[in-house]
Amino acid sequence: MKVYLDHSATTGTDPEVLQQMLPYFSEQFGNGSSQHFYGREALRAIDLAREQVARAIHATPNEIYFTTGGTESDNWAIKGIAQSLRHKGDHIITSAVEHPAVLETCRRLEKEGFRVTYLGVDGDGAIDPRALEDAIDDRTILITIMTANNEIGTLMPIREIGAIARAHGVVFHTDAVQAIGSVAIDVKQMGIDMLSMSAHKFYGPKGVGVLYKRNGLRVGRFMDGGEQERSMRAGTLNTPGIVGMGAAIERAIAHMDDNNARNAALRNYFVEQVLARIPDVRLNGPADWNRRLANNANFSFEYIEGESILMCLDLAGIAVSSGSACSSGSLDPSHVLLAIGVPIESAHGSIRFSFGKSNTKEQVDYVLDKLVETVERLRAMSPLFQYVQGEQKYV
Ligand SMILES: *Cc1c(COP(=O)(O)O)cnc(C)c1O
Repeated sequence: MKVYLDHSATTGTDPEVLQQMLPYFSEQFGNGSSQHFYGREALRAIDLAREQVARAIHATPNEIYFTTGGTESDNWAIKGIAQSLRHKGDHIITSAVEHPAVLETCRRLEKEGFRVTYLGVDGDGAIDPRALEDAIDDRTILITIMTANNEIGTLMPIREIGAIARAHGVVFHTDAVQAIGSVAIDVKQMGIDMLSMSAHKFYGPKGVGVLYKRNGLRVGRFMDGGEQERSMRAGTLNTPGIVGMGAAIERAIAHMDDNNARNAALRNYFVEQVLARIPDVRLNGPADWNRRLANNANFSFEYIEGESILMCLDLAGIAVSSGSACSSGSLDPSHVLLAIGVPIESAHGSIRFSFGKSNTKEQVDYVLDKLVETVERLRAMSPLFQYVQGEQKYV
């Protein structure tokens, strides 16, 4: 059996979405900037996708800018504001649990003389709106806080953050890459000035994303060159990718409640079974399901390494992620787990399971059996576990 439980790392393009993309690779290959009918046909398809994306977050089409993905959108939003508002201030507020696309961009700006406040989070991974308000000073130009966390699924208090940002006249950007398709977003109601998203996280193609930018907000341009995207983001548009993104977001919004209900049912069952069948395990992130993405579960298995669990599950045909996919390859413990107070040893033994459309109850039962077996086997080989067991005998 093959089981994919890594939907937060990426999803496969929906077959119906792919069908809609295909003509734009070949017969309808026109450049959206060309004035002849090839170009007009591409432009028509791009305009439709722009409307689909705008509708999904209650924006207007001229507030949508196509990019190459979440990383580019985050870079553009943060560096763009730093550039356009440098005369007003030099202070940026973010959280300690952001995706590297945000954290590393902020670190870069620090090297260029900006001050960055990395707000700490509570044990569930959420920032405290009061701490945010306290951190704002008269040089603050940007608040960038994610809508939902990619490792532990925490939903941030976006409405409150939006209201605070508005009250203080500070620009608010949110990385909503994990939230699109799982959380209803209304940029106007929520006070969001800029928002990043990425198609491959909601069953669209890789390499295409969007930055939403509120009309009237001045942001430095990201890519110099031609006049694409109202001269804000140069480069020939990726027509097939954009068509796929539009189709995928429309489907994601239309099926959001069904998908969330299915994911939550599988996830809740999985969590309940893991806690019942495996001793010395800790659920990371909110236990209150209303404060968490419906498809996310993250556990620390004491006394063993997440990397070893991942490899054993991989041999059994099960795909999961240790820490975050972006930091795997490095053995540093997850910055998110450390920020919520998970001890370093436990953070090393952590695995993210992220559910999605392809998963079934039968698959979850298979994963549970393999996981129980794997944890037992690894613990039997773990000197630390042996030592703790030995100690307990003499208490
Ligand atoms: C995946 C992800 C990104 C990066 O998006 P790409 O399109 O892969 O560059 C950024 N932020 C979050 C929260 C993510 O989960």
